[in-house]
Amino acid sequence: MDSISWKFTSSGEFSLKTAYALACSSIDPILNETNNVHALDLRWIWKLQCYPKMKMFIWQCIRKALPLKTSICARGVVINIVCPLCASGVESFVHLFVECLAVKEVWTALNIHPLSWSRDQCVSKWIKDHASRKDIISMDISYGATFIFGLWEIWLGRNALVFENKAFNPILIRKKTVCKAAEFVYLNCNPSTPNASSVFSIGWEAPPVGWWKLNTDGSCQGNQNLIGGGGLIRDSNGNWIHGFIKFLGEGNSLLAELWAICEGLNLAKHLGCIRIIVETDSSAAVNLINSKDCELPFWISLRQK
Ligand SMILES: [Zn+2]
Repeated sequence: MDSISWKFTSSGEFSLKTAYALACSSIDPILNETNNVHALDLRWIWKLQCYPKMKMFIWQCIRKALPLKTSICARGVVINIVCPLCASGVESFVHLFVECLAVKEVWTALNIHPLSWSRDQCVSKWIKDHASRKDIISMDISYGATFIFGLWEIWLGRNALVFENKAFNPILIRKKTVCKAAEFVYLNCNPSTPNASSVFSIGWEAPPVGWWKLNTDGSCQGNQNLIGGGGLIRDSNGNWIHGFIKFLGEGNSLLAELWAICEGLNLAKHLGCIRIIVETDSSAAVNLINSKDCELPFWISLRQK
């Protein structure tokens, strides 16, 4: 009697350990049996500076496992294969991520251009060449990180259009890419914000006479990326002067912290609190604001006031 077995263990039983070793090896489990020439070394994917879900996404792109319309059609499902973004091409990997006019707008806005595709190009090499570039584009974010987060956001934007009928907006995609890449880089890759946590006790201290203190905090609701922020201003005697709380829309935790600071500073300005000390629990926000090339629009406008 025939039975299904896993050929990478002696018992034939599936094990996660062997599956992981296989994923990290240069062996192509599907193609190596008939044609070794196609064996791919994809270990570089797992070393990329991005979230695990993005590494899985890139692996899917390379293994032709992404449910693009042409891929679904090739598996025998009868569907319309026209690109949902521009309605003038066929939705293949090359079209959706390189050639589509709507997507070209995203790459141009991100300073990732021109992205070319030659006939003998393979997806793996194309992604690897761009994703491994270390040159900085802006705000300490590398070309490679911007490229990876850009690919991911284009895919999310495409899915929002296909499944939720939300318009594909290149400017919004660009904004989300930069925000998420900045958050990742500042929270995960910045040596000044090490991952190792340390616990220490702090207490609130009143500002000097003639000064005010603004304390802010921002928060992000995980699944829906809804953000809000709040804060309060106190004088040198610790008296409460004013407070605020605000729903800020969609974003991420770093954006919530930054907007809370921005709202607090605007409120302080409105109240005439000229000499103000700002306290936040986000070292990433502080590092970002203090960085020489901080290009946050609200910070630039605040500095000019
Ligand atoms: Zn298109």
